Amino acid sequence: MIKLVSHPEWCRRVDCGSTAAHRSATIRVSGPGDLLGIDAMLMQLDVPSAPRLVRLEVTDDGATTTYLMPEDQARSLHRALGDLVAS
Ligand SMILES: [Zn+2]
Repeated sequence: MIKLVSHPEWCRRVDCGSTAAHRSATIRVSGPGDLLGIDAMLMQLDVPSAPRLVRLEVTDDGATTTYLMPEDQARSLHRALGDLVAS
């Protein structure tokens, strides 16, 4: 029996069924010459009431570390970084 997957509007609709997670398109937050490579995307497990998460893939000197944080924490980080660099 095929499970029908309901995708959030922001989902890129690739491999959701096999990974049991929805993912947005990746946003590259770094460019040539930046110290760190940073890619960001939205992610949500394909289970009822799963929270939406922000997934950060940070690459430093060839090693990539993945961080998952709740959407609220990502908003707090956004505000904190904005305040920090504006000071
Ligand atoms: Zn999906």
